[in-house]
Amino acid sequence: MSEKKKKLTTASGIPYAKHEDSMTVGPRGPILLQDYVLHEKMAHFNRERIPERVVHAKGTGAFGVFRVTHDISRYTRAKLFSKAGNECPVFVRFSTVGGEKGSADTERDPRGFAIKFYTEDGNWDLVGNNTPVFFIKDPKKFSDFIHTQKRNPKTNLKDAAMFWDFLSLNPESMHQVMILFSDRGTPYSYRNMNGYGSHTFSMINDKNERVWVKFHVKTKQGIKNFTGPEADEMKGKDPDWAQGDLVKTIEKGDFPLWTMKIQVMTEKQASEFKWNPFDLTKVWPHSDFPLIDVGEMELNKIPENYFRDVEQAAFAPSHVVDGIGYSFDKMLQGRLLSYPDAHRYRLGANYEQIPVNRPLNKPSNYERDGYMRVDDNGGDSPNYHPNSFDNIEADQSYKEPPLKMESDVADWYDRNENDDDHYTQPGILFEKVMTEQERKNTVNNIVGHMKGIGGPKREEIIRRQLGHFLKTSEKLGKAVAEGLGVNL
Ligand code: NDP
Repeated sequence: MSEKKKKLTTASGIPYAKHEDSMTVGPRGPILLQDYVLHEKMAHFNRERIPERVVHAKGTGAFGVFRVTHDISRYTRAKLFSKAGNECPVFVRFSTVGGEKGSADTERDPRGFAIKFYTEDGNWDLVGNNTPVFFIKDPKKFSDFIHTQKRNPKTNLKDAAMFWDFLSLNPESMHQVMILFSDRGTPYSYRNMNGYGSHTFSMINDKNERVWVKFHVKTKQGIKNFTGPEADEMKGKDPDWAQGDLVKTIEKGDFPLWTMKIQVMTEKQASEFKWNPFDLTKVWPHSDFPLIDVGEMELNKIPENYFRDVEQAAFAPSHVVDGIGYSFDKMLQGRLLSYPDAHRYRLGANYEQIPVNRPLNKPSNYERDGYMRVDDNGGDSPNYHPNSFDNIEADQSYKEPPLKMESDVADWYDRNENDDDHYTQPGILFEKVMTEQERKNTVNNIVGHMKGIGGPKREEIIRRQLGHFLKTSEKLGKAVAEGLGVNL
């Protein structure tokens, strides 16, 4: 028995006969205005592109599952973490940061590592990177910083002078610079890298007690990186290398795994911590704040449609569920605003109704209407609160405990010296954590990139940056200077 064929239809479901030939006056004559199918095809094609993400444009994603393996309910009342054995579906998007949607996967860049946990209490998004720190600690600098990763306004070329000019004028970037120019700046694949929530978050337990928390997502495939030259070679050979790697391995049933761990700091420990615990350019040393096991994540399904699920995926650090909260991390506070704002621009005010962004539970609130409202829009229920008709309550059990703050409101330029210590942690990374081979590669990667600095300010920029390298580690500064042929 032959399968019944589907009819070709317009978007409004009207079957039509001719898909390839336009309606004309005679076989050689002009096209008729009334060929609606032609208009629909052309008009829809013209509207296929939505704005590219300003950052993290090139990405790939997969669905999977998160399993709680250890009980952390002493720290959090999040329902997901109420007991070991709990599970929830996840969607993960990996990405590079600075390049356009068509840029190469093996560019030297941090990698985005964004996880959407579809929990019974709504969606929790852990929107991190493969690095535990970031280049800057204040969101007011973000657009300037990103501009330096983009193209020169005149030449439309990537410009090492812009990049190092900004970094050398912002030494808080040093920690992330060291990680970026180590071979971790060019991961072999998305499967072979860790993810970090990076920011400090909070957890609140059922006694309404708060602790500060960092999230770590560790690859079970092992860390594997390209060296600088290997990554450069792969840019030309297969610019979509990491996308291909994820698709191919998952489709053959080799599902990548990560473990989730947390570090926990009490409010008292935070007040005594040497550095600012909310500073995104610093980590919490493992020896002081050991990793605590939480769970395991497996990715096991490539979306059947890339645009539907990956291009329209919208993650926001503002999406936290009860039992997990924000912190004073300035970068986190900036992202609470900027991520949903970006989604409203790219996808519209109703972006959370797009299937990949929809929570498992049905949202109930008084937001109505707007472009592309495609759910029941609240049906005939009241569109205001309080009202005498519906049965929706603001549940007081979701209230967070108060947090005491005593400080003056000001533009705080002066911080204590430990807050502005940009060099100790990257120095430890270079001198104590890296192997001799990693140190060599890091120096070569830095030298190779800085050699690209051109223009009238070349020497000034190089000397300023060398000053920061020397403060991080004398060995590092001298090796970079030697590589660049600069006499110190
Ligand atoms: P530890 O020796 O306990 O931890 C060192 C960490 O460094 C490990 O997590 C390791 O990751 C990671 N690492 C190794 N090589 C690199 C690299 N090239 N780039 C980035 N990370 C790397 O020491 P501490 O906790 O006292 O931290 C020492 C330094 O390690 C920090 O100053 C920081 O630069 C770096 N680091 C610290 C992290 C933290 O959260 N404490 C997290 C990541 C880096 P892995 O487990 O994959 O081997």
